[in-house]
Amino acid sequence: MSAELIAQKPDDDAKRERLTVEGTVQGVGLRPFVFRLAQELGLTGYVQNTPAGVVIEIEGGDTSLAAFKKALQERKPPQARFLKFDNTPLTANGGQDFIIRPSETGEETTALMLPDLAVCDDCLREMNDPSDRRYRYPFINCTNCGPRFSIITALPYDRPNTTMAEFEMCEACRHEYENPEDRRHHAQPIACPDCGPQLELRDAKGRTTARRDEALMKAAQAVRDGKILALKGLGGFHLLCDARNAEAVAALRRRKVRPVKPFAVMYPSLNMAQAGRMILPKERKLLSSATAPIVLLPGNTLPAVAENVAPGNPNLGVMLPYTPLHHLLLSELGFPVVATSGNRADEPICTDEDEAVDALSGIADIFLVHDRPISGRCDDSIVRVMRGRARVLRRARGYAPLPVVVTHSFAAPVLAVGGHLKNTVALAVRNRVFLSPHIGDLDTPEACTAHHAAADLLCRLYKAEPQTVVHDLHPDYGSTRMAAERGGNAVAVQHHHAHALSCMAENGVTPPCLAVAWDGAGYGTDNTVWGGEFLKIEPGGYERVLHFLPFPLPGGDAAALDPKRAALGMLYAMDGEDAFGRDIGLPGETARLMKAALNKRINCLQTSSAGRIFDAVAALTGVCAENGFEGQAAMALEFAAEPDATALYDFNIEDGIVDWRPMLRAILADLDTGAEPGEISGKFHATLAAMILAAAKCVGEETVLLTGGCFQNALLLDHAAEALEQSGFAVHTHRQVPPNDGGLALGQVMAMAHAQ
Ligand code: ZN
Ligand code: ZN
Ligand code: FE
Repeated sequence: MSAELIAQKPDDDAKRERLTVEGTVQGVGLRPFVFRLAQELGLTGYVQNTPAGVVIEIEGGDTSLAAFKKALQERKPPQARFLKFDNTPLTANGGQDFIIRPSETGEETTALMLPDLAVCDDCLREMNDPSDRRYRYPFINCTNCGPRFSIITALPYDRPNTTMAEFEMCEACRHEYENPEDRRHHAQPIACPDCGPQLELRDAKGRTTARRDEALMKAAQAVRDGKILALKGLGGFHLLCDARNAEAVAALRRRKVRPVKPFAVMYPSLNMAQAGRMILPKERKLLSSATAPIVLLPGNTLPAVAENVAPGNPNLGVMLPYTPLHHLLLSELGFPVVATSGNRADEPICTDEDEAVDALSGIADIFLVHDRPISGRCDDSIVRVMRGRARVLRRARGYAPLPVVVTHSFAAPVLAVGGHLKNTVALAVRNRVFLSPHIGDLDTPEACTAHHAAADLLCRLYKAEPQTVVHDLHPDYGSTRMAAERGGNAVAVQHHHAHALSCMAENGVTPPCLAVAWDGAGYGTDNTVWGGEFLKIEPGGYERVLHFLPFPLPGGDAAALDPKRAALGMLYAMDGEDAFGRDIGLPGETARLMKAALNKRINCLQTSSAGRIFDAVAALTGVCAENGFEGQAAMALEFAAEPDATALYDFNIEDGIVDWRPMLRAILADLDTGAEPGEISGKFHATLAAMILAAAKCVGEETVLLTGGCFQNALLLDHAAEALEQSGFAVHTHRQVPPNDGGLALGQVMAMAHAQ
């Protein structure tokens, strides 16, 4: 700021303006910044948090007012984001000072709640400084970092509306909190060793065995000794063990009943994570950002990590410490640890230290906990860089509950309860759709309780009483039942239509367009299982213009776990009884049962699922014979593929059907001549892209969406997007929300945008 501007004082020509700012404006240090800026420029007036955002009234000369507005936009705190900025002229009132007014509370709240932010460098520096009063304090934070969503109980974001309300600030903390010049001015979770939360170490029976730094040191020793540590973190518990120790990892797998699904690994530092691995600048930035997600990186075969951390997977989910507590622990250890959600199989992540001992008994050997309550459950997010952009595959910490801003403004709030797998819920308020963090699969009562709680929290924060609750068309989903239980007007939206609307919402696409919606399963309007869909999206609806030739899935839902059944179903659809002449590795007895089931059409759902086609090809090529977790076979097939394959298999598109039979026949011929799985998989991926291109040309819509869980496959996404773009189509896919069912809730609320 120039000296000339600073010297300017309000005078007789003073003008007054009211600025209303909406967006991420609370809990980011905006008020102290405004206060200092107003003082610097000699302006009078006030700044105040409101339910909708921040109101600023400033009074002074023209030049100073202009300088203020410019600096507000250009120099605002790093985490602040303005979605709306209005400016009303008022009559000057000759006030003498600039103040920070107490927060205003009111009816509608739309101010943006920030996600939890990774600890900042300033705080880390203090934490590592022996002369600082917060030396080695695991809950250090400031206006630029620390917990937000995981501690909030109501908006506006002020200390009494957080789970820190029960901690009374000591004098030193209060002084910092109240001093507009301090970098902890109004840092709501402010705390220190004298007044804030503390660590405690508990044994498997829940007895406290150490406190404070001693608890941390003993926990570190337990991890060094190969034990499994349950750590209460930011939005829930982590289960940690030494990632180099195959026995510890095997014990964790056994106890968590998670035989093969990859674990994520937390490295002590970026340098250690980078050693021997190619990391793109974009991936490096993500890892070290305030969001600090798990980033899927190539290079799982590095010596620092045991093979059973991510068996058979060329990628590894990597993250860096993001809380002061994780930093202290990891720097004590100096080696990477497995860091997986602290839950029992199929249950949501634990958040309470007293419940955790029960919930995680038999899994964890020891518990490192603290007494800062968690109000908003929040898992780690997962991001993969594909086609040069960061794409969120699991949206939780660091992202939720930031809204997706949409082009439609909802006249009344709408709640959507999501699907069944990878569930999230969404609340639409005006032009913002607030998405809950990832909740998980709704297979257990605990998960359903967490699902309700997530919806309640969003409604409470935004003081919304939605009269419309949108759910999936599937009559048996837990989320569908929940929609009925919540009362009001329950509206069903077809699964793949919701995938399409989700993709449109985050990209601002308006109909008409073609949605290629490919996933494992979604209930169709004809009572069959859809999953390889080409939907022409129109205002207010869709037309199923093309889909894969349906085939029977012997054993119904069990087929999702057994790729061989998908293979058998496809072979049967192609060759009838002759299908049984081919040995696809099914045990004799099972094969006989399947044959009877297929011939009598008992428990054989018809499906057009692209996901099951991936399964079938994985089974036939021997790449993967079992789905230990959802998507395992499809992932294995992607990883096996020769990426640059250009040769194609035949296929046919006619009468609304994409006929895969010529492709399957050719794959069998390739197998019979001894072609390598990698070659077949490469050709298979290229063929799928060619099918998408041919379908798009058939339909003739200029805009094409690639959505659904299959598009987590980087190779498929690459091939398909490239082919479409080269032919002049405008291609949209997902970035902010997952292409999988984690993004469904967004699409579900959007279905009401066209209805309202
Ligand atoms: Zn900080
Ligand atoms: Zn204190
Ligand atoms: Fe889906």
